[in-house]
Amino acid sequence: MRLGAHKTTSIMKKDIHPAYYPESKVTCVCGNSFTVGSTLPELKIEICSACHPFYTGKQKLIDTARRVEKFQAKSVSKAALAGRKGKKAKRAAKAAKKEKKEVTVKIKPSDLAEDNKK
Ligand SMILES: [Zn+2]
Repeated sequence: MRLGAHKTTSIMKKDIHPAYYPESKVTCVCGNSFTVGSTLPELKIEICSACHPFYTGKQKLIDTARRVEKFQAKSVSKAALAGRKGKKAKRAAKAAKKEKKEVTVKIKPSDLAEDNKK
């Protein structure tokens, strides 16, 4: 990049490009730092190749916006709701079964009585 940068500076149009820092310092919150070419003299980042789970192979939650927490809370409340609905549905089904049984039981004696009358 540095060889190319020297070449392109002569070709590039004047006064339209931002200042280029070939060795701007990048500092990560994990403590790692390195240099890159940038238009900013210093960069502060939250994640780098030294601490990103993809490179480390270790699960690590990077939750700057509390998204994981929010999702977990949401899923818990949803599960509770689903459980309640399931119980309600079960109760309703049981009640319906009971009613049906009771009805059949009630009808049978009356039918028998009517048969006896006739
Ligand atoms: Zn890092």
